[in-house]
Amino acid sequence: MSDCLFCKIAAGEIPSKKAYEDELVYAFHDIHPLRPTHVLVIPKRHIASLAQVTADDEPVLGRLLAVAARLAAENGSPDGFRSIINTGRVGGQEVAHLHLHILGGPEPVGPMVKKI
Ligand code: AMP
Ligand code: ZN
Repeated sequence: MSDCLFCKIAAGEIPSKKAYEDELVYAFHDIHPLRPTHVLVIPKRHIASLAQVTADDEPVLGRLLAVAARLAAENGSPDGFRSIINTGRVGGQEVAHLHLHILGGPEPVGPMVKKI
C-alpha cells in the first residue's frame, strides 16, 4: 500500500528505531511509548487490520506472536509483557496497518482495560 505509514516504515522510507526484522515481519519502537518497553511488530506486507486477515496471512500472524517474547526480553521486559492488537473503530486502532503492541518494563503493565 503506497500511502500507508507502516508500509513506509517497513520499507525504510520513513525512519524508525528498529528492534527486529525477518522476511515476514518488522519490529520497531513506538514513537510515543506508553511503558518503558513499547515495541510494535508489523507484517511487512500490508494487512489493514485483524478484521481483514485471510488464511494466506496465517504464517505471518504466527510469526508476529512467535517473536514477541524474545523482543520483550531483549528490550527491557524479561519477566513478561502485555501484547495488544487494536482493531478498527471499536478497538481504537489509529494506524490502518496491522500491528502488535508489546508493552512492558520492570514493573507490571497494570489492569487490562478500564471499566466503563
Ligand atoms: P494503534 O492505536 O493501535 O493504531 O497504535 C498506533 C501506534 O503507532 C501508536 O502507539 C503510535 O504512537 C504509534 N506510531 C504512530 N506513528 C509512529 C511512527 N512514525 N513511529 C513509531 N510509532 C508510531
Ligand atoms: Zn501498510
